[in-house]
Amino acid sequence: MLEDPKNVSKVRCEDLLDALYEYVDGGGSPEARAKLQAHADACPACLQQLGIEQQVRQLLRSCCSQQAPVELRTRITRQLRVQYRVERG
Ligand SMILES: [Zn+2]
Repeated sequence: MLEDPKNVSKVRCEDLLDALYEYVDGGGSPEARAKLQAHADACPACLQQLGIEQQVRQLLRSCCSQQAPVELRTRITRQLRVQYRVERG
């Protein structure tokens, strides 16, 4: 099936956020990943979130050799998001 650019608008921000963990972990189907990437390219808010998730991943990778518990990951993600909101005012 050919990539339909119109599909991009069908990806809602909530969908993207739901799939972010999988995305930054390298999971998900290539099709889904392309869709998410395309949406993020067109949606600054999601692009920002994507950057935050990748930051989280890097942080976890630098301090934990093994996969971090979901709890820790969630906490870091939340902190970064709060930080981002504060920075934006
Ligand atoms: Zn979005």
